Amino acid sequence: MGVVLLALGGTISVPGRGRGARLSGAEITAAVPGLTELGVPLDVRDVQAVPGGSLTFAQFLDVVAIASRAVAEGADGVVVTQGTDSLEETAFLADLVWPHEAPFVLTGAMRQPAMAGADGPANVLAAVRVATAPEARGAGALVVLNDEVHAARWVRKTHSTSTATFASPNTGPLGHIVEGRVRMLLIPPRHEPLPAGPDRKRLEDARVALHVVTLDDDGDRLQGLEATHRGLVVAGFGVGHVPGALAPRLGALAEHMPVVLTSRTGSGPVLRHTYSAPGSETDLRRRGLIDSGFLDPYKARVLLRLLLAAGAGRDDIAEAFALRG
Ligand code: GLU
Repeated sequence: MGVVLLALGGTISVPGRGRGARLSGAEITAAVPGLTELGVPLDVRDVQAVPGGSLTFAQFLDVVAIASRAVAEGADGVVVTQGTDSLEETAFLADLVWPHEAPFVLTGAMRQPAMAGADGPANVLAAVRVATAPEARGAGALVVLNDEVHAARWVRKTHSTSTATFASPNTGPLGHIVEGRVRMLLIPPRHEPLPAGPDRKRLEDARVALHVVTLDDDGDRLQGLEATHRGLVVAGFGVGHVPGALAPRLGALAEHMPVVLTSRTGSGPVLRHTYSAPGSETDLRRRGLIDSGFLDPYKARVLLRLLLAAGAGRDDIAEAFALRG
């Protein structure tokens, strides 16, 4: 019964310069007008108190495990409050492993609690509403801010300061909170969850690099990557292109590790067989790169690391990207 709220820090907990320690989960929820009136029993727990950018895969999988236990013990849904900086990645990580019908809702704030028009309280209220909404069951991990519900799979942080930063450029929001009511317009298809508790040593070893391709890129930074990383995500130009001179280097890397091709544009898919110049998507696929479909570079990196940590081989990885990309 009720909602378990796990507080991880972030702007929603930042008191402002000279105002003392970070706010606890209890302090965050105490400042939400209308929350008590919802009548939802809240089990508030302080798990971490860090900026979003300092969270790790291992820490977040622990958070998912705590949430999973709470749901198994009867919670209707989960709310995680965290820094917004890494939220598009942690949300997707949770979504990939979340096995329950109960919603796993992530929220945060763009404005600190003491600022005029602080958005944290409204976001927490909306998140609790979504976590208990029958309409949101079975939708996996959801990101709720600014009275919108976004799929973890599609959501991006698109602006560094705006309270409307979270958007899903490929799809739009799945739903809205209107007059306090959760209105889901879409429920995304779900896939078999990946193993939620990969061996920690394997997770640590499954280092995945991200290389953003830029004008006149000579790929210098990719030298020696075989020795330090287990996988690579390439954020290519447009539909998945790199300078022709870089293609052989990526092909050579693909013989040692999975190399996933994504687009650096921010929305839209990489193509598979439209262009054929050296460094084109067709050329790179022929050299062994795996295409990410619609998955953006950051989400592709989350999926690849989780797959490597679970011991997946190249074919399993290609299949997983074909299914989820
Ligand atoms: N920018 C951070 C975030 O991800 C907040 C920094 C902090 O929590 O100290 O919300």
